[in-house]
Amino acid sequence: MKKRIERIKSLIDLSEDEVKLLTSFKRISKTELEINGKRYSAWRIVHNDALGPGKGGIRFHPNVCEDEIKSLAFWMSLKNSLIGLPYGGAKGGIAVNPKELNQNEIEEISRAYIRAFHNVLGQDKDIPAPDVYTNPKVMGWMLDEFEKIKQRHEPGMITGKPIELGGCKIRDTATAKGGFIVFNEFLKTIDKKPTETTAAVQGFGNVGMNIATMLHETGLKIVAISDSSGGIYDENGLDILKMKEIKIRGQSVTNIENIKKITNEELLELDVDFLIPAALENQITKDNVNRINARYIFEMANGPVSEDADVILHNKGIMVIPDILANAGGVAASYYEWVQNMSGNIFETNYLENRLERTMIDSFHRVYEFFEKNKESMDVRTAAHIIAIKRILAAEKIRGNLQ
Ligand code: NAD
Repeated sequence: MKKRIERIKSLIDLSEDEVKLLTSFKRISKTELEINGKRYSAWRIVHNDALGPGKGGIRFHPNVCEDEIKSLAFWMSLKNSLIGLPYGGAKGGIAVNPKELNQNEIEEISRAYIRAFHNVLGQDKDIPAPDVYTNPKVMGWMLDEFEKIKQRHEPGMITGKPIELGGCKIRDTATAKGGFIVFNEFLKTIDKKPTETTAAVQGFGNVGMNIATMLHETGLKIVAISDSSGGIYDENGLDILKMKEIKIRGQSVTNIENIKKITNEELLELDVDFLIPAALENQITKDNVNRINARYIFEMANGPVSEDADVILHNKGIMVIPDILANAGGVAASYYEWVQNMSGNIFETNYLENRLERTMIDSFHRVYEFFEKNKESMDVRTAAHIIAIKRILAAEKIRGNLQ
């Protein structure tokens, strides 16, 4: 994050004060949660709130650490700013492997998280949502715990909730749908048809499975998919709907018989038009970047390409469509959910879908046009970061926090 800001500093003449503001954090909350005698570190971090309350997901993963949550909170600031939302950036997480917990323990740890952080959360303060290994059920428990403590209803304190508790009809698949909309706009700009295009998708969870399904339905050939157990490959294209059924039954994609198995490393190195990382960050780093054979990388995960790898990809002519644009559909839908909760309105699905489409198409063209104008000096990610940073700094200046 710091390296990226250093690079942007030289491109748009950021002052030292601006750099300092962008690399500092508004609030870092940390605690230890105790469940059945075991202790788990947990964080909620707000990076910047000049544009509005903090907004960002909560992740349950054994590798969660403070640095990771800080980076993710920073990206949320940029993402929310880029697509024009009235939000700052935040993120939360618990260093836990949910696969080692039963449902009661997952409920208990979700409620414990809210008991620890309820004072820094709220519809006007900081609004969580699902992320890796958290889902609507977890959001429901968290809302219930929060409302019990506050003794009032406040559905806008969290998004990605079950519909019954004030959730939004399109939220579940909105990240993938937003990515799908951007993907199709991008295909048009490079004059390519889905039926002539191949892709490999790393991660077959909420985001990866849904975008793979949507792309498959347009005739695009998905030759490889993977989950944490490994991947599968078929050069003629996988039957994604069948894989989806298997995954929904709770099995790994690697359980499918009579199909070539590959590792996650091999998946990343496949010769495809699009590599779509949809799992975790830092999957393409300086260690494997020279073995990447895809023509384009379409980042559905947050931060799958490390900063040093980015520079090498750019020099190799591999274009990256960045996370803060490609996966912004989820937070856009979270915003519609929050607006519903705050206003008492219930929007129709058609309205929500149209609004998501307009937001994603508009954001894509703003970024791509800026990139096209400046492509001698920057990649698409830098273009997106600059647009986002300028809006945050403008808000900070109006507030009087910067000269
Ligand atoms: P998820 O938990 O539903 O799915 C994660 C998937 O990644 C699973 O299939 C898991 O098996 C797989 N995985 C885990 N470790 C892996 C590894 N080392 N190699 C390959 N696959 C691995 O999570 P999700 O919500 O789909 O999130 C995926 C990514 O998308 C994350 O980077 C997340 O931050 C980002 N994202 C999610 C949303 C959202 O709305 N859910 C929004 C924006 C960004």
